[in-house]
Amino acid sequence: QDVVNKIAAGEIIVSPWNALKELIENAVDAGATTLEILVKDGGLKLLQISDNGHGINKADLPLLCQRHTTSKIKEFEDLTSIGTYGFRGEALASISHIAHLTVTTKTRESSCAWKAYYTNENLTPIKPGQTADPKATAGKQGTQITVEDLFYNVPTRRRAFRSSSEEYAKILDIIGKYSVHCKGVAFCCKKYGEAGTSLNVQSHLSMVDRIRTVFNSAVANDLIPFEVANDRWGFRADGLISSANYSAKKSTFLLFINHRSVESTAIRKGIEGVYTQFLPKGAKPFVYLSLDIDPARVDVNVHPTKREVGFLNEDEIIEIIKDEIATRLGAVDT
Ligand code: ADP
Ligand code: MG
Repeated sequence: QDVVNKIAAGEIIVSPWNALKELIENAVDAGATTLEILVKDGGLKLLQISDNGHGINKADLPLLCQRHTTSKIKEFEDLTSIGTYGFRGEALASISHIAHLTVTTKTRESSCAWKAYYTNENLTPIKPGQTADPKATAGKQGTQITVEDLFYNVPTRRRAFRSSSEEYAKILDIIGKYSVHCKGVAFCCKKYGEAGTSLNVQSHLSMVDRIRTVFNSAVANDLIPFEVANDRWGFRADGLISSANYSAKKSTFLLFINHRSVESTAIRKGIEGVYTQFLPKGAKPFVYLSLDIDPARVDVNVHPTKREVGFLNEDEIIEIIKDEIATRLGAVDT
């Protein structure tokens, strides 16, 4: 059983950045407006995220890291109507099997914060994935999740990470994406033991200023707002795309589907194709696109690590988005 859990966990959590992505989504789901992230050794030694969201009830702590514990679906049928990021109740369970996990949390109603430690080791009386009795502690409303020694018990995976700076870059990349997308939320990320911040996005910033902060002024000064909706295929897309005046050596794609950062080669290739008509040879665009699709039409059972997402009528939807981008790029050109 333990081995099965460990293997399953290792398939869901494949790297520090993807553990962090799950934690960011949980914090945003909890209504947080401030996320503070602390990272040591590319996230392998320490990943800590503190939020000011609604917190977790003390009574829910013992079961928090059991598989399929989720406060986000009541019935299995609800899977077709999920409005929030999470729906599987597997992220925390998985992390607790391959790392040392500590959760400190306080709801508004609770008079103090509660701290729980989850382990995969055979410490009696704690069973794998469970916690001993939570301990009372001081703290503000919100939740702090501390993940230490990721993959400590999966040495082959642990060894695959050669460079902590490479892992840190991927962590900053995923935080950057959510910092652009989550308007009204402040993000800050620090390296453990360093004074300054690597990334600091304040809550009041506009979308354009979020892009300016995370990326650069050159792109922020050349953005065109984008919006298109279609009832027949049940979708709505909006975002900010670079104009024909902007060009970069590498393209930047921030794609969100139903508020989850995902990859879609079909969308990326389609949009890059439109830009080739407007940009000099070899020049690449910046594209931030947020797509809301009727959840019943999105492949919700897609594995968390499978970043490629699928949805119904992909071709038709991509065509509409491409047409709209071509129109906007043309309109700005003349
Ligand atoms: P899911 O997000 O799919 O429900 P997770 O394993 O990611 O599953 O989280 C399990 C549950 O833990 C969530 O449903 C939520 O109730 C609670 N939770 C996790 N992180 C937070 C957080 N930062 N603030 C409040 N509740 C949280
Ligand atoms: Mg989650």
